[in-house]
Amino acid sequence: MAFLSIRNVFKSYFLHGKRIDVLRAVSLDIERGELVSLVGPSGAGKSTFLHVLGTLDAPAAGEVFFEGRSVFAMSDAEIAEFRNRTIGFVFQSHYLLPEFTALENVAMPALVQRADRAKTYATARELLERVGLGSRVDHKPGELSGGEAQRVALARALVLQPAVLLADEPTGNLDPATGEGIHQLLRDVNRDLGITAVVVTHNETLARSMPRRLRLAGGQVTDA
Ligand code: ADP
Ligand code: ADP
Repeated sequence: MAFLSIRNVFKSYFLHGKRIDVLRAVSLDIERGELVSLVGPSGAGKSTFLHVLGTLDAPAAGEVFFEGRSVFAMSDAEIAEFRNRTIGFVFQSHYLLPEFTALENVAMPALVQRADRAKTYATARELLERVGLGSRVDHKPGELSGGEAQRVALARALVLQPAVLLADEPTGNLDPATGEGIHQLLRDVNRDLGITAVVVTHNETLARSMPRRLRLAGGQVTDA
């Protein structure tokens, strides 16, 4: 079985008594180390798909397998533990904690897991250097540009050394040049750290720069 395997996934929402079928029998395989973009019209269900893939949201039917293991067959506590250990997230907003420095923000997910402090800060510093912010470690989010803050968010998503990185419109708030910088970093991280990454984007040019492109439309995910 593939590294990530999505089988016959359905997801609907009920809004004002009306059912919206967002994912309709989505099946898809992603191999370890792939770098995948996901495009599709606004409201097509890209975030919904990423939430299911990221184990944040259970499907109504169907299964998600990580290395052959059915994720939603686990208990909620096991799923949460699995998610912490396996998946890093980046969203459109950076969600950095404003009162903490870049270094502290990056270290936070590991410190919350009671990881060794000295090792964690060393890793956080390394990651900030990797994303080009070695000179910004002591800056707070309010002292960073939008692109820099998103780089910090990317470093934070990597601090627990996830096998999978899921990014939902990570460049949605950035100008195209700054966005391209973030996408370049995602390509670097995928290549250098071997992380499997799925990146939702509205930007077709950026999407095309990814080795594999998926499209979500009509409740279906297909290779584009
Ligand atoms: P995309 O990311 O492609 O813009 P989403 O996954 O955010 O699409 O949303 C897909 C559809 O599901 C939209 O019609 C949206 O309004 C609806 N939707 C998303 N989340 C919810 C929710 N929690 N409750 C009700 N409807 C939702
Ligand atoms: P951009 O052109 O990418 O939006 P900015 O003009 O916001 O960038 O920021 C340029 C540089 O100035 C950044 O490297 C940022 O770290 C620094 N900077 C911005 N605002 C502050 C601030 N309030 N305090 C300290 N440094 C700041």
